[in-house]
Amino acid sequence: MDLYIFNTKTREKEKFKPQKPPWVGLYTCGPTVYDYAHIGNMRAYVFSDILRRVLEFNNFKIRHVMNITDVGHLVSDADEGEDKVVLEARKQKKTPYEIAEFYTDVFFRHSAKLNIKDPTIACKATDHIQEMIDFVKVLVDNGYAYEISDGIYFDISTFPNYGQLSGIDLEEQREGARVEVNPEKRHPADFALWKKAPKNHIMQWPSPWGMGYPGWHIECSAMGLKYLDAFFDIHTGGVDHIPIHHENEIAQNWGFKGREIVKYWVHSEFLQVDGGKMAKSLGNFYTLDDIEEKGYDPIAFRYFLLNAHYRKKVNFTWEALQGAQKAIERLTEHVLKFKEAPPMEGGEPGLEGYRKSFKEAVNDDLNVPRAIALIWDILRGEEPSQDYYQFLLECDRVLGLGLAEMEKKGEEEISEEIRELIERREEARKKRNWAEADSIRDQLLEKGIRLMDTPEGVRWEKIKGGENND
Ligand code: AMP
Ligand code: ZN
Repeated sequence: MDLYIFNTKTREKEKFKPQKPPWVGLYTCGPTVYDYAHIGNMRAYVFSDILRRVLEFNNFKIRHVMNITDVGHLVSDADEGEDKVVLEARKQKKTPYEIAEFYTDVFFRHSAKLNIKDPTIACKATDHIQEMIDFVKVLVDNGYAYEISDGIYFDISTFPNYGQLSGIDLEEQREGARVEVNPEKRHPADFALWKKAPKNHIMQWPSPWGMGYPGWHIECSAMGLKYLDAFFDIHTGGVDHIPIHHENEIAQNWGFKGREIVKYWVHSEFLQVDGGKMAKSLGNFYTLDDIEEKGYDPIAFRYFLLNAHYRKKVNFTWEALQGAQKAIERLTEHVLKFKEAPPMEGGEPGLEGYRKSFKEAVNDDLNVPRAIALIWDILRGEEPSQDYYQFLLECDRVLGLGLAEMEKKGEEEISEEIRELIERREEARKKRNWAEADSIRDQLLEKGIRLMDTPEGVRWEKIKGGENND
């Protein structure tokens, strides 16, 4: 059965054919590590995880490359403003490397909680400065780039397909360009490959054009080609990357190789909050830690995301997350019944039909909502059996909900001592004795019990490695 994916480039669902089967080269634009990744960012990575898992489900072998942007991403996606990591370093009085390391660690911690598989190669921009300089040198030598007083810029007039990915009108863009656009640039959409650094700039490296630092777009071209050169099949990112970042990557690759490199451009839609943009200034910027602190399971958030197709906008609300959490609890109850059930003598006659439908759904441009509906058909409509349980685990290789590890969360499993502590903490909270409540919470944590304050009251869960974990 063939796999079809929507290619932003052709605006069509295309049959997926890798260049060097069974290998698939997959590149995902990684996080800019100057702050916590918010739950919108995490949607982009749950999506690339699902794509990777579907490819694996189709028996491809994946080399998944993800960059970590620790230099070069300026406050505007174009070439204006300060470097985001440097700006944050100054605010926190730390070095840019400390900032990047801290937020990279948090990113991978959050990814793990969402069952996102680690990329095969995670590469930092600052470890690839030489590759970027070499790349820019080729672009300059081949006449695709020019030097002006503040850096080296790509000349988009040299690339006839510039704007094709996003369908932008370059002439309109020229007319609409803001007055403060660097007047030395030949076209307002020409973009920086290398920036010359002012003397006091914290991050800078020697180059043929003096001390400086790379532009943001060049890192993805340089690292993508380094690690996936011969089989760069799929490139993913959020939809905001289409008009600037990915348009620029295509142009750079063309200048360097004389042809387009990436075959399939695949983009995930945005997660909105309360119907609009998520922003710190609006007070609706949430991270996975916020979700956990409110007592929700990160997997409930994954489940919430999986119930929408990746090319549709999703609106995050706490009510919707609560619904997802309830669904996961029901799912767990059902799955456990199947887990305990014996095999069906002679096998399940309906199984092959489900297997086919599941693959049809995920192979149809990752129709995961349809695949999940199918799981529910089995859980609700079929008699539990070991055969179905094994099939559910097979499906979970794609969904990544951790069905095999699902455990009952029930009152009967805690000791008298723990129950008493939980009650004492509730009392303390009622009396607004926060110090005591916090101290009991810590005691429970030491005993391997995490409390979650939910709108329906306090809930608890056992944490891995805790002494109460059986
Ligand atoms: P950044 O760290 O800003 O480079 O972004 C990391 C990823 O998150 C990129 O693929 C963005 O396209 C994506 N992204 C940013 N905001 C959102 C959002 N609200 N919803 C979904 N994806 C997003
Ligand atoms: Zn990128």
